[in-house]
Amino acid sequence: MPKLEIDINKIKHNAKTLKELFAKKGISVTAVIKGVTGSHEVANAILKCGISTIAVSLVQNIKKMKEFGVKAEFLLTRLPAHTEVAEVVKYADISLNSEISTIKLLSEHSLKQGKRHKVVLMLELGDLREGILPDDIDLIVEQIIPLKGVELYGIGANLACFGGIKPTEKNMAELSETADRIQGKYNIKLQMISGGNSANYKWFLSAENTGKINNLRIGEAILFGRETLHRNKIPKLYIDAFTLIGEVIESKIKPSLPYGEICQNAFGDTPDFADIGNINRIIIGIGEQDVDTKAITPRINAKVIGASSDHLILHSEKHIEVGSEIAFDINYSALLRLSTSPYVKKVFV
Ligand SMILES: *Cc1c(COP(=O)(O)O)cnc(C)c1O
Repeated sequence: MPKLEIDINKIKHNAKTLKELFAKKGISVTAVIKGVTGSHEVANAILKCGISTIAVSLVQNIKKMKEFGVKAEFLLTRLPAHTEVAEVVKYADISLNSEISTIKLLSEHSLKQGKRHKVVLMLELGDLREGILPDDIDLIVEQIIPLKGVELYGIGANLACFGGIKPTEKNMAELSETADRIQGKYNIKLQMISGGNSANYKWFLSAENTGKINNLRIGEAILFGRETLHRNKIPKLYIDAFTLIGEVIESKIKPSLPYGEICQNAFGDTPDFADIGNINRIIIGIGEQDVDTKAITPRINAKVIGASSDHLILHSEKHIEVGSEIAFDINYSALLRLSTSPYVKKVFV
């Protein structure tokens, strides 16, 4: 305890359903499993659905999957750092890029390793995370083409991640037209035109014309069954593949309002509580160290009042015995910390 239960069959079902859906408009799915730190169990389940490219944000997680014998094409979602290019070339087949200095290093190291690394150029479309500004893209393409160690494999964009900008017919058309124009101007074939992530679901459904876009990099929709513009459930998908289980370590009737002189709490905040009389206060042995406690919801009739580093405090309707197990629904930001914490046991069901 605490433990994170992962229902592999639900994830597999979601991956297969999405793969079939996107295929209807000629779009392949790259499965992004950075949320589960590139779990080889999850990767293998997804590969069985006919998805062949697995993506994570850390090159260490690709290395780990390879050591566990996962056979896939691997894509790195985070821009490679100069200090990791040798590893990126060694383990990843494809990386997303926006800096020519990095691409030149990737090429150098590829040649040294006797490889040809695939580069997907990211185009800035307004979300203002990674991406080359549209006016600069030709200049970068011209510098990549002569490099022997890399192949300009595609072009991509990423929206709704940082700035919350929605993928629309307009910005997707800009990506598609840019791809088209570059292919014509430089007489090259871009294999991967990657339109975005789980936030592209609505665009996909409503777009009459998805243009040249032939790939999406899908994480949250596979793991949590939701699109990410409004976090609406996607029909036919499971939203409960993950369950967090914690153990009750104290259970008492206590006041709802802390008493004494109020100063700062463990995180430097001055807390503010409403007085609703005495309540069932339950402490669970998990805290901010292991999970984003704002991103979890108990499956029993109880509510999270707050947490410190390793204590989670619930207000429960009923009395609950010390030693009981409490199950929680979690969302993506909770999953990230749970997955990376060595103190949370992962159990596949
Ligand atoms: C995380 C990430 C994705 C996957 O996003 P989801 O919202 O989980 O589908 C796709 N592309 C890039 C570049 C990412 O960093």
